[in-house]
Amino acid sequence: MREMPYVDEKRLVELFENLVNVPSVVAYYPEIDKKLEEIFSSMGYEVSYDNKHTLYVKVKGQDHSKTICFGAHLDTIGMIVRQVDPNGWIQVRTLGGVNFHSLEGENVYIHTRSGKTFEGMVIHQSHSVHVFDDARDSVRDITTMRILLDEDVSSDKDVYALGIDHGDLISVEPRCIVTSSGFVKSRHIDDKACVAALIEAMRIIKEENIVPKYDTWFAFPIFEEIGHGGAYVPLEVDEYIALDIGLIGPHYHGTEKKVCIGAADNFSPYDWELTTKLYDLAKMYEIDACLDVYYHFGSDATAAMRAGNNIKGAVYGMGCMNSHGYERTHISAIKGTCELTLAYLMNE
Ligand SMILES: [Zn+2]
Repeated sequence: MREMPYVDEKRLVELFENLVNVPSVVAYYPEIDKKLEEIFSSMGYEVSYDNKHTLYVKVKGQDHSKTICFGAHLDTIGMIVRQVDPNGWIQVRTLGGVNFHSLEGENVYIHTRSGKTFEGMVIHQSHSVHVFDDARDSVRDITTMRILLDEDVSSDKDVYALGIDHGDLISVEPRCIVTSSGFVKSRHIDDKACVAALIEAMRIIKEENIVPKYDTWFAFPIFEEIGHGGAYVPLEVDEYIALDIGLIGPHYHGTEKKVCIGAADNFSPYDWELTTKLYDLAKMYEIDACLDVYYHFGSDATAAMRAGNNIKGAVYGMGCMNSHGYERTHISAIKGTCELTLAYLMNE
């Protein structure tokens, strides 16, 4: 058995912080693509894109009998500008499973088509307990929540005059904190922690001159949170392994320190043989991992299976507390996710 290469936790967390601070709300790829192109060119990898802007890095393996694709989605949950109220407050639609109870009061960034970014914050229409009887009890959804722009505006005309328009994309403050006890907190552990784990594994195989057992593609979709990131899979791919967060709760083995392998989600069980192989590799390399059945959850492997691609699907990633809110995991699970990726790349 090949020894597990050393994974530097400090470097891995730095990479995560670097990635999580680049906005990449669903469908908004210009800034994160530029960042990934920089990172991959510094590692000596070439990138390509498909028409839906999934970024690929393709690496030749020792054996060309099959092609494995690892996917980690770049997109994060957020919003899109729907219209502007007469008083200048912005109405939105959500992109992905936004929980407004968590978002209320959070800072956001509005990305316009002209390339400008404006700052603002999420408020409820009845925003102040000093003023509104229903400030605590009113529902939090797209009918009641608004974006308050950090600009000198008091009407819809003022807002449109800034160049903000319907369809502008809104990303949320990542709020990244790494504690001395090794917890990593951010709104976008999902899925930037997996993106970091995957890229760190790619860096390690370069540095250690490890040639993957099989031809291997690394894919970075930008539409996972709305369900179709991995829906298109190139014909060459035989196995699609999504790196995505694991869930924590009463019915789960998952914790913030474990690599959670999804046995099934709300659509389908994942491939029996592939999932078993991943779990066996985790045991072989003493990576703290578990199997769970997910509830309100889908991954890019699910999207790939749902779209009818001829692939075997699997999913794993670090356990994530408070998912789609202010999320938390532990560095040990990000490292474990990187190690399981290396284990499957070496594929003993
Ligand atoms: Zn995700």
